[in-house]
Order: sequence, then C-alpha cells, then structure tokens
Amino acid sequence: MRTLLQQLRSLIEREAAMHGPLVPLGEPESEDGRSAREQDGDTQAKSETATAATAQDVQNARSQPTPDKASRDAEGETATTDDAADGPADERGPTDTDENTTSDAASASPDAGDLPAPSTVSDTTATGSSDGASSAPSSPSDASMPNRDLFGNEVDPTEDPSRPPRERVGALVPDDAPYREIDSLADLEEWVAQNTLVPIDEDRTNPVFGVGDPEANLLIIGEAPGANEDEQGEPFVGRAGQLLDKILEAINFQRQDVYIANILKSRPPNNRDPLAEEVDAHIPILYKQIALIQPAVILCVGKVAANTMLDRRSSLGSLRGKEHDFYGIPLYATYHPAALLRNSNWKRPTWEDVKLVRTRYDELTGTS
Ligand code: URA
Repeated sequence: MRTLLQQLRSLIEREAAMHGPLVPLGEPESEDGRSAREQDGDTQAKSETATAATAQDVQNARSQPTPDKASRDAEGETATTDDAADGPADERGPTDTDENTTSDAASASPDAGDLPAPSTVSDTTATGSSDGASSAPSSPSDASMPNRDLFGNEVDPTEDPSRPPRERVGALVPDDAPYREIDSLADLEEWVAQNTLVPIDEDRTNPVFGVGDPEANLLIIGEAPGANEDEQGEPFVGRAGQLLDKILEAINFQRQDVYIANILKSRPPNNRDPLAEEVDAHIPILYKQIALIQPAVILCVGKVAANTMLDRRSSLGSLRGKEHDFYGIPLYATYHPAALLRNSNWKRPTWEDVKLVRTRYDELTGTS
C-alpha cells in the first residue's frame, strides 16, 4: 500500500514537472487568467451593447408617429394641469406659475439682469442635449410619389423621415382645407383675412397672420395675439414684443431676418388661453405657413406654443434647454417674453436657450 502511494506521488510529481501544476476541477482558465464565467459576462455585456445599438439605430431610423415622441417616452412625463394663463392686463402672455413649476428659476443666476448685449455666440458652450431631433433632412423624394413600405403599403408622409420637412409638415394640413394648395404666404394671408373659422375670428379687429422674411430660416412661434397685436394686425408688438426683439438682437438677429407667427391668428378675449377648437381650426394654417417658409429651426416662446406644437402637456422646465424634432425640423422652447417681464430670473435660462438656437441655426445654414 505504502509502495503504491509512493508510486502515485512520484507519478504526480513527474506530470507536474512536464505539464505544470494540476488545478482543481471547475472553471477552466482562459489565456488572460480570467474564468469562462467572467468572459461570458463580457460577451453578454457586449451583446447587450450591440442589441442596444441596434435598437437605437432602429429607433433613430424609424419615423416618429407624433413629434418628439421619443423624448416624451424617455422622460415619462405626465400631463400638467397648471395651464390657466391670464397674462398681465396690458400684455398677453403667461404668468410666472403658468410658465414653469420646476427648478429653472432657482437654477437661474439670481443676479441675472438684462439680457447681454448683442454678441457672437461662437464662443459659447451649448449645454442642451438633443432628444432625438434630426438635422433638417433634404431628400429628393417627391410628394406626388408615395413612399411604400416592404409590403407595398403607403407610408404616412408625415411619418416618413426620408421626406423633406416641407412635405411632412405640408401633409399635416387636412385634405379638405381650402388653403391646402395655396402656394404663397401672401395668398395664404389673404385667405386668412377673408375667412372666419371660429367665433374669435368674427370678433377680431385684425387677423394676425405673421410677419417677417417669407424665406426665414428661423421661425418664432408664440401663442396668440394680444390687444396690441389685434389692433395692429402684427404679432409681438406690445411690451413682450419689444423684449422679443431684444432677445433676437442678443443673438444677432433683426426682427426682419426671422419670421414671427402665433398658433392662433385671432385674439382670444381677455387674453385667455386658446380653446381646443380654436387651436384645431387655426393650427393647420400654421402648418401651411411652415411648409411654405421652410425654416431650418423653430423657436417656440412659452409653454402653450411649445406644448401645442409638440402635442405635449409638459412644464416649460422640461421642454427648454434641448432640441426637439418637429417633423424633421429642430424645435426649441424657451420662456415667453411676457413671463420674463414678470420674472427676470428666467432671463438667464432664456439666454442659454437662444444661444442653443443660434448655434443650431448657424450649423444648419452654414452661417459662421
Ligand atoms: N403673445 C403672444 O404669444 N403672441 C403675440 O403675438 C403677442 C403676445
């Protein structure tokens, strides 16, 4: 027995001398000394990354059923009901609480005073993150040739990212809208002046169609005309309008360089919020304007304008500071100038927002 054990030990020693020490049974080691389980973990992690990348690619490639849906889903936003918005008696626009209930004001510099003097923005740091906006795609696709999916079904043109924004937005105008085929802003303005769609159209002094460069690359969208605008037939001409001009000047735009329009073309009485039926009746006119103007970038001022355009019900705090996608057009949101008149803490974040807009505008238009 003893001899047998000695023989066995010497056999083991010989084996060890020839092939290295024996290891316990279990996880075979790899060349880098890590166990197969560890490597499996890596493989799994890599395959998850690959899957995520693929899913992301697919997500990016897919058209969005409603504008900015991806960001809405990502943020998991809930509807807010703090929408009551009577502006200052002499000025249409939201009140402090309408604009925002999040911490933006707190994060704004307490000494944020007047907006900075006009300056270049090339030395500024863009702080916003894109939430899925695409750069304005240009495509040779023709509206008269419907795009089809693999099964031969026509793809909804508004949801077809291979189409240029003008086609996608143009397709939002209902087929039976009498102005659908109008092909100039001047003719559309004429149509608006001569027709009424909802009771506020009957009561207006003047329609407020929009003003500015018909080929502007920056479109500013507000909520609805106030008393001054109703009187003059031009958007943003009251105190809020003067502040809007200053904001534009701070990023080196003159009023005439951009186009300014509202969701509603007629003044709601007592500066009340637009009613759903008023928005439904008027917003296709704005879609038509966008299709004709073909802006590179859209800036919505105020929560109502931004939420209406993006079909959301969010606080301004969650809408601002980032890029949204409006059927292929980058869209930004910031505070309404009337809100800034009431709360100057919001000037700082507004300045940050408009710098983002200017940077994106320069990128897309090749302006330096
Ligand atoms: N507020 C708006 O939203 N639009 C105007 O035209 C004027 C004030």
